[in-house]
Amino acid sequence: MTIPVRTRIAPSPTGSPHVGTAYMALFNYAYAKKNKGDMVLRIEDTDQKRSSIDSENAIMNSLKWLGIEWDEGPDKTGKFGPYRQSERKEIHARHVQILLDNGFAYPCFCSSQRLKELRTSQIANKETPRYDGHCLNLTKEEISQKIEAGEKYVIRLKIPTEGKCCFTDKLRGKVEIDWKQIDHQVLQKSDGFPTYHLANVVDDHLMNISHVIRGEEWISSTPKHILLYQYFGWEPPSYTHLPLLRNPDKSKLSKRKNPTGINYFREAGFLPEAMINYLGMMGYTLPDQREIFSIDEFTQTFDIHRMSLGGPIFDLSKLKWLNGRYLREKLSEKEVVARIIEWKINSKFIQKIIPHALQRIENFSDFIPLTGFLFEENPTFSHSQLIGKINPDEAIKLIKICEWELEKIQEWNRNNIFFIFQSLAEKEDYKIKSILPLFFQVISGNSVSLPLFDAIEILGPDLTRLRLRKALEYLSSQGSSLSKKDLKSLEKEYRSKYGNRVD
Ligand code: GLU
Repeated sequence: MTIPVRTRIAPSPTGSPHVGTAYMALFNYAYAKKNKGDMVLRIEDTDQKRSSIDSENAIMNSLKWLGIEWDEGPDKTGKFGPYRQSERKEIHARHVQILLDNGFAYPCFCSSQRLKELRTSQIANKETPRYDGHCLNLTKEEISQKIEAGEKYVIRLKIPTEGKCCFTDKLRGKVEIDWKQIDHQVLQKSDGFPTYHLANVVDDHLMNISHVIRGEEWISSTPKHILLYQYFGWEPPSYTHLPLLRNPDKSKLSKRKNPTGINYFREAGFLPEAMINYLGMMGYTLPDQREIFSIDEFTQTFDIHRMSLGGPIFDLSKLKWLNGRYLREKLSEKEVVARIIEWKINSKFIQKIIPHALQRIENFSDFIPLTGFLFEENPTFSHSQLIGKINPDEAIKLIKICEWELEKIQEWNRNNIFFIFQSLAEKEDYKIKSILPLFFQVISGNSVSLPLFDAIEILGPDLTRLRLRKALEYLSSQGSSLSKKDLKSLEKEYRSKYGNRVD
């Protein structure tokens, strides 16, 4: 009997949806459909602090926009649900208990202070930082006493002390990793929530996932997963680790260097079919080498063994070129008109702007000069206007901090945006009024514009982030930039005033 093919994508709903998620989704989708199977969307929201329903919705909307459909997921019925991990807490806890009962996992009471010291000394001794098994041999009595005394604890996975973990990766062949390199992974946090590793394995098994196709950053976690399958007495799925998308300088694709949010491409007016086509070219060529293809053509001819392992470069200029070809070769003029209307020249979008524009226009022809920046990918800056009365070094610092602070917003709305600017001004010792002209310029390339916080809300996080970055690039092209050392000390100062950065 052949096992039905079931793949899955398992995004964590933290922040705006990333092109890397779409890339994995496309290849999982193609693999499932080529093999007459199903693809599951599972929301991995075990990190309760960072997960949000807004981000979950944004992930679903952006995948749908790209034309990637799943067969089962939180918004669909299916017999393997619930498909949101936060709704599976009991299932995960039950499985942690099975591991404890069989001696495959153990409670660890070590304080964060001890763990920090351990890590520091291991790093100083050039050892791989990992848990040293301090709580591994606590007796049953000691454990009960500690629990009764109210000590906080996590549950850790027992790792073999010797030997190697071997598994086969569909693209890489045999992979061997020494157990000595693998940490005693925390499976359950002190708040009772499972970690990614436990929940991911339990859910993949219970959802009958036959093929795990994910990014190569998970290779080093696979031994822990295989070990969990062994401990539970389950058959592991087939594993394929795809190469990660890279920036043109070969570094890992990151929003610090390039736009990476799917929404960025949507907001900047790219066609979803061109995006999918471009993602399908990442590390892959169709058997007949054609460059322009639809998602169905991609899926019908898909052969995972044609994947190449060299890190594919996600190059915005190539995507633009491809998008241009789609506009000229694949759509009629009538269709282009319809697509532009659907994009932003529609009443829904204009309706968002009008309440803020109304006080500032006399006739309709004022509308475009006033609001054009909301339709642009990037505004053009002029140095003197951008800086205004602030000295360039201070401007850079404010823009950088603003970039880091805006990352922390979970719900992108005017009020949350306002609070960020208010605290920025307060902490940097400015009157809010005196820093606004700088940000008017950064956001709109203009000194007259819509009210700033509303404009930022309408622009959305992806285009806003890019504008902040473009302003920094512009300032650096004009001779003002942060050296690596300056950036380090700014980060330090930032942490002490604003707390840790979120990425
Ligand atoms: N939640 C993980 C992520 O965000 C899923 C990794 C996997 O596919 O196993 O990437």
